[in-house]
Amino acid sequence: MSDDAQELRWTHQDPDYLPPEIDTSKPSIARVYDAFLGGKDNFAVDRAVAIEGMKHFPDGGEGARQNRAMLFRGVKFLAEQGIDQFLDIGSGLPTMDNTHSVAQRINPDAKVVYVDNDPIVLAHARAILKTNENTRVITADMRNPESIFGHPDVKGFLDFSRPVGLLMVAVVHHLGDEEDPEGLVNTYKARLAPGSYLQLTHFCSCAPEVRDLEGVLLAMLGTGRARDLPEIVGFFDGLELVEPGVVHLPEWKPDQEVTYPLTLGGICIAGGMGRKS
Ligand code: SAM
Repeated sequence: MSDDAQELRWTHQDPDYLPPEIDTSKPSIARVYDAFLGGKDNFAVDRAVAIEGMKHFPDGGEGARQNRAMLFRGVKFLAEQGIDQFLDIGSGLPTMDNTHSVAQRINPDAKVVYVDNDPIVLAHARAILKTNENTRVITADMRNPESIFGHPDVKGFLDFSRPVGLLMVAVVHHLGDEEDPEGLVNTYKARLAPGSYLQLTHFCSCAPEVRDLEGVLLAMLGTGRARDLPEIVGFFDGLELVEPGVVHLPEWKPDQEVTYPLTLGGICIAGGMGRKS
């Protein structure tokens, strides 16, 4: 079936149609995250993980929403600094707002490449992005940086001799320690031109309750590792941290007054932004 025909069936015309590459027999990270966000692009097997997670950590949905909100505050900040090209790794399913819409509201010429290793992201995004010539989406695995930098939709589209906004938002915690997440993030940072930024958020073991949610995710999804704050700060080594540094997400350039104490949803993910000089 052609991409166009598949897209027509996948979007509105045939609600029962599933592209063959979508496996609904086991949960997927992108769809479980969508379930936590209250989205509709998930299946029973994904909702089962979110439901079990919420039993142990009722603020799980709030954590996902805080993460998404910080992603957009970061993209807006970057676009306002003049960043006009974005590489969004582990971009997730498109939802109400997305990196390209936030960036292109500020600069309609801003270029965005979405990268995710889950083919469902491409299946959804293809339809949404069909008319947006400044946005691309590719299926690739961040553990293989060359498959991303060498991809024709990245290589021929983004100019890495100029500053780029590299987004690794809620994705590095899907790497095990044995996969050397710090080394991998360093590989990406090394490819960035001076003036580029890294925005990164990560599941944080800042409260003991987060360990319960981590336990559910590792058992049911096989991934989703909480790390402590110094480890998360370490991902920004060699970069100049943008104020206020690596913090709980509601505290990162808030657009409304922050209420204390923070909820568990507010502290279960930490993150920040660093600039390469
Ligand atoms: N960045 C989005 C956000 O913060 O709203 C989505 C985050 S979602 C929790 C994590 C995404 O990373 C999922 O869509 C998942 O498929 C993707 N992902 C996980 N491991 C990946 C890998 N090795 N390479 C590329 N994408 C990956």
